[in-house]
Amino acid sequence: MPQISNLCKPMDHCNNFVMTNILVDPFERRISYLRLSVTDRCDFRCVYCMSENMTFLPKKDLLTLEELDKLSTAFINLGVKKLRITGGEPLVRRDIMSFFDSVGRHLDSGKLEELTVTTNGSQLEKHAKNLYLAGVRRVNISLDTLNEEKFATITRWGRLPQVLRGIDAAQNAGLKVKINVVALKDFNDSELFEIMDWCATRGMGLTFIEVMPMGDIGNENRLDQYWSLKDLKATISQRFNVTDLNESTGGPARYFRVEETGQKIGLITPLSHNFCESCNRVRVTCTGEIFTCLGQEGKSDLRAPLRNSSNPEILNNAIRKAIGLKPKGHDFNYSRTTVKGQMTRHMSHTGG
Ligand code: SAM
Ligand code: SF4
Repeated sequence: MPQISNLCKPMDHCNNFVMTNILVDPFERRISYLRLSVTDRCDFRCVYCMSENMTFLPKKDLLTLEELDKLSTAFINLGVKKLRITGGEPLVRRDIMSFFDSVGRHLDSGKLEELTVTTNGSQLEKHAKNLYLAGVRRVNISLDTLNEEKFATITRWGRLPQVLRGIDAAQNAGLKVKINVVALKDFNDSELFEIMDWCATRGMGLTFIEVMPMGDIGNENRLDQYWSLKDLKATISQRFNVTDLNESTGGPARYFRVEETGQKIGLITPLSHNFCESCNRVRVTCTGEIFTCLGQEGKSDLRAPLRNSSNPEILNNAIRKAIGLKPKGHDFNYSRTTVKGQMTRHMSHTGG
C-alpha cells in the first residue's frame, strides 16, 4: 500500500502531514492532467464502446454543472494544468456550454493552461464557435472511417455527413482538430492511406488507438477487432520512410514522421507498448468517481466530499488520498486466444 506521506512536501498542514498544493503519486509521477466525463450518454453506439442497449445512469446520480465546475476548480487549485472534457458524448449534455464558459475563467487567470474536448463531432456544427469563445483551442474528434455506410455500421446511430459538417465548423471557428481513429482489423485497415491523406490535406492531426477491452459490448469480439499498431506502422513503412520522434505531449501517444510528406502520426498503444511510466493523468466520471488508472478497477468517491462539505480542504484531501492510491500501471494484454485485463466498465463511463 503506498504511503500518503510520499505526497507530502513542506507547505500547509493536512492531518499529520505537511501537504503541498501539487499532486504527486506514489511513483513520483506529477498529476497535472484531468480528464473529466460530463455524461455517460451518447448519441452514437460505437460497436467497440457500447452495446446497442445501454442502461445509463439515473440523472440524479450525475454531478450538476455547478458541481463539475467546483470539482474542476479543486483539481486546478491542486496543480492540474490541462483539463479535457469527455464522456459519453460531452456535447450532448444539456447546457454544457455554460460549464465551458464558466471553467474557461481558469484559462484567463493563467491557472489552467489548456481546456480541450474529445467529441464524436455530431454537435460541433452547433457548438464550435462557442467552444472557441470559451477558450478551447484544440478538439479531438473520433472518426474511424470516411465511408458513409461503414460509419453508420461502426457507430450504429451516427451519420457521417453531420460529423463532417462539425469538422468544417470546428476548423472554421479556428479550432485545431486532431482525428482519433480506433484501429480495427478488417474494418478500417483498407482505408489507412486514405485517412492519412485526408488528415494531411485538411491540416488535421491524426492519432491511431488500439482497441481496449473496456466493458461488455454485446456480441462483438475484442480479438476480432484488435489491429496492432505495430502492424499498422509496418504497413505505412512499406510505402514510406518513417522516423520515430522523441517528442512527447505528456500523454500516452508516441509519434513518428512520414518523411515523404512530413505528416506526423500519433500511436496510442496500450496493448503493444505500455506507457504507464510517464502517466500524468487521472479520470473523473460524471458521478464523481475518480479512476487513477484507465486499466484498473480501483476508484475513489469524490461526490460525497464534494456534496457534503462546505470546507474545500475535505474535497482536496479526498483527491490527495485517491492520487495516493494510483497504481503503477494497467494489466491489459491480448494473448493469441484470450483477452486479459478486461474492464467491466465501458469507456463511455470512465471517459476516453
Ligand atoms: N464520445 C466522444 C468520442 O467518441 O470522442 C468522447 C468519449 S469516447 C469514450 C473517447 C474515445 O474513446 C474515442 O476516441 C473512442 O474512439 C475511444 N474508445 C471508446 N471505446 C474504446 C475502446 N474499447 N478501445 C479504445 N478506444 C475506445
Ligand atoms: Fe459515443 Fe464516443 Fe463511445 Fe462512440 S466512442 S459510443 S461516440 S462515447
